[in-house]
Amino acid sequence: PGQQRCPRRDGSEFDARALARLIEFRGRPAVLVSLSDTTELNDALRQAQWNAGMLARTEALCRSGSFEVSLPGGAVALSVGMRALIGLAEDAPVDGQIDNLAWVPADEQLFVAGIWRNAEPGEPFEFQHRVQGLDGRRLIVLHRGQVSDDAAGGGRRGVALLQDITAQREAELRAQELATHDEVTGLPNRAAFLDLVDAAIHSARWSEGAITVFAIDVPRIADVKAKMGFGAGDTLAMALAARLQQAAGPGESIAQLSDTEFALLLDSADAASAESTLQRAHALVATLQAPVRLGPTDIHPRCVIGVASFPGDGDQPAALLECAQKARLSATEAVSVVLFEPDSNVRALREMAVESALRQALENNELCLHYQPQVDLSNGAVIGAEALLRWTSPTLGVVSPSEFIPLAERSGLIATVGDWVMHRVCEQTAAWRRAGVPATRIGINLSASQLQRPDLAQQLQAILVATGADPASVGVELTESTAMADVAMAASVLRQIKAIGVEISLDDFGTGHSSLSCLRSLPIDVVKVDRSFVHDVTAAPEDVSVTRAIITLAHGLKMQVLAEGVETEGQLSLLAANRCDRIQGYLFSPALPADAFAEMLREGRRLPERFVTRVSRTRTLLLVDDEENILSSLKRLLRRDGYHIITACGAAEGLQRMAETEVDVIISDQRMPGMTGVELLHRAKELYPNSVRMVLSGYTELQSIIDAVNEGAIYKFLTKPWDDQRLREHVAEAFRQKEMGDENRRLARQVESANADFAAVNDRLERLVAQQREQADLLSSSAGSMRDLLDSLPAPVLCVDEDGTVAFVNQQAQALLASCGSILGRRAADVLPAAALASMARSDGGAEIASFGGDDHLVLSRPLGGTDADNGQLLLFIRQPVLEGV
Ligand code: C2E
Ligand code: MG
Ligand code: MG
Repeated sequence: PGQQRCPRRDGSEFDARALARLIEFRGRPAVLVSLSDTTELNDALRQAQWNAGMLARTEALCRSGSFEVSLPGGAVALSVGMRALIGLAEDAPVDGQIDNLAWVPADEQLFVAGIWRNAEPGEPFEFQHRVQGLDGRRLIVLHRGQVSDDAAGGGRRGVALLQDITAQREAELRAQELATHDEVTGLPNRAAFLDLVDAAIHSARWSEGAITVFAIDVPRIADVKAKMGFGAGDTLAMALAARLQQAAGPGESIAQLSDTEFALLLDSADAASAESTLQRAHALVATLQAPVRLGPTDIHPRCVIGVASFPGDGDQPAALLECAQKARLSATEAVSVVLFEPDSNVRALREMAVESALRQALENNELCLHYQPQVDLSNGAVIGAEALLRWTSPTLGVVSPSEFIPLAERSGLIATVGDWVMHRVCEQTAAWRRAGVPATRIGINLSASQLQRPDLAQQLQAILVATGADPASVGVELTESTAMADVAMAASVLRQIKAIGVEISLDDFGTGHSSLSCLRSLPIDVVKVDRSFVHDVTAAPEDVSVTRAIITLAHGLKMQVLAEGVETEGQLSLLAANRCDRIQGYLFSPALPADAFAEMLREGRRLPERFVTRVSRTRTLLLVDDEENILSSLKRLLRRDGYHIITACGAAEGLQRMAETEVDVIISDQRMPGMTGVELLHRAKELYPNSVRMVLSGYTELQSIIDAVNEGAIYKFLTKPWDDQRLREHVAEAFRQKEMGDENRRLARQVESANADFAAVNDRLERLVAQQREQADLLSSSAGSMRDLLDSLPAPVLCVDEDGTVAFVNQQAQALLASCGSILGRRAADVLPAAALASMARSDGGAEIASFGGDDHLVLSRPLGGTDADNGQLLLFIRQPVLEGV
């Protein structure tokens, strides 16, 4: 057989297939040639080939492949595209079997086969599965297929089209990830967290359990972003996210709600009791607050946590989270963990009302100041007052500053309120001076945000000048937590304020968590001991010792001590006995309107004489006995030795006398109604440990007396009736003992205060050195990165410092000015081309044209660090025309 093109009669051609055969024709051998027209067949063949080629190309282009499967046998025939997709060489023999396709991962083979074997003829289907390419690639494919009955064989035939959708799926996953995760830390975001909380609430409902959510805020992240750049902020956020991840237990989830806010969904076991939740939160605060090193600086990421629980606080995920966030808003530096309180919705409404009324109040002049007198205990005179805000709102009535001040702090209104108070106090003191009211000092309460202003001292000074007030007539008060928020900042602002001559008091001392020694670096004149440390003579001895310790320590640091909130004579006596310098409180006077206070100053009202600190250093002896005649005979006997003798006919009266007068030696009877002598002297030992105490008794209750002697409550036990001479000797010996003790304590105090001074100076120096080092580190690192940046700039840049020396040259500039040699460190006037010098000389940030090797460059100069050319200049060379150089 053969093929050839044959002409037709009409001239057209056709594909002819010739078949020749030897035959016998009419008895003779012959050749029978038959021609068949195969044009159509050949066309169909070409078409089929073209189709196959096209399919292969299309499959390659669409990253898809196809196969045919015959069922029920299961034999599979792969297309060329399919072979490429699964990484099978074109001539590799095996096509495979639908039940165990080699290129489908083992765990999905059954699934793929199952779908094919159960497919309904005529019903197209699609599904996704993984492909384990024979060349090692892993793909995800969209697998479409359809089975049809095979008319000829009685079986069925299936055709499959597989499309590689790996990239698409990855993009989808990434998009989903982005929609549900934070881009920087990769933690689930708010939306994803709410889903998790929702699931947790459902399961807690089911198991009648509880769940707890922490809303955690780290404002420092925003701060670092603003001051050190986004990269630094992101690094800090990532470090904290890692700590959170470590701190979270197995069943717990964490999330990032915003730039500075994280959340933790607690395991239900930890949410069991408020106490364990609080413990957990405090532990977390401690973990997160450990310093993070960013470049050369240690960052202290302070954080606050708000806590809310289901079912108590909210039963919807968003509401529950909101409760935690609301609680967090009322957290402070001092109280870093706050549990949500159900009534805070009511409170929030009230806060909104107060806030808007306060805005109004400032405009309508509804605020005024009252003045609470402060008294000097050494002479009983008024030495100053604290200015306290008073506000009567037309809509809300009287609102306490304890309510509106914290609110003003949160809403930012405090800046305006604080300014107003400073102005008002200065105006008032100036007015009083003009009116001839005796001079005094008025304390202004400063809030944390006022102390954040680096120019606070200048502002105060400007107000003093504007109002004509004397700096000695004002003082400022700041609380411990305000001071501790940023000690370095507070120290610098306060030093400036002190330099003006304004007195500085530390308010509410004892309520924060700082120690006096920690505050040593601040220039504080007066420590205001919080009223929770102001006790009565009847208080527990431990409490009294704490107050005494604060006073002693403050004196050691050369600070005066003022006790706040003194309401009773008992409190006053005890404070005076413990050498407190000043008091303020309702006992002397509440805060008064300006006129009433001025009147008090004019009148020269004082504290009654008996409260004024006893400065008499005569030897004072207290005799306590319930029998009058014994008291008088003792008095008669001991008077001739020159003692100042006080008597009391009972323990209670004895305590009262001790509070009024500083007593050196106490002699008490043992058997008295109400309280025994030993008990009284025990008490006296706690309250006035430096006194020397003796019992004089005819009644010997041996054990209690031995105990008292052993515990040091009693110095000597003397018996009645007494021998006059022996008793006088004992008393004289007791006074000697007391004076020796006093002298020793005085020396010890001197040593202690010298030590404290030394330590304070040392401390201050160390801080200064550390601060300078930190500053230098920061400067050098930012200078380094600046230099890198300029170096990589695709244009020549150089800097000339204020002395006219070339201080920086980037590589491009060095190349451009190569003919001048190495120019770094040389005088600009000697090495730079004239055009550059001319550009620098022009005050308008000049532009000049300079020519280098035939190329024109535009030379731009800009002053460094603002508009003042005194800081040096930056020169930029731009090749002209610009586009040609690019
Ligand atoms: P603070 O500075 O500790 O003021 C002392 C508070 O104790 C005042 O409350 C005062 O009236 C009260 N007080 C005085 N003596 C006694 C007493 O014997 N017993 C008792 N229980 N309390 C006494 P006030 O006036 O309600 O002020 C509360 C707080 O509001 C102040 O505490 C201060 O932190 C703040 N504040 C008041 N005025 C201003 C201001 O002008 N600026 C700023 N930033 N805060 C202010
Ligand atoms: Mg105050
Ligand atoms: Mg106070």
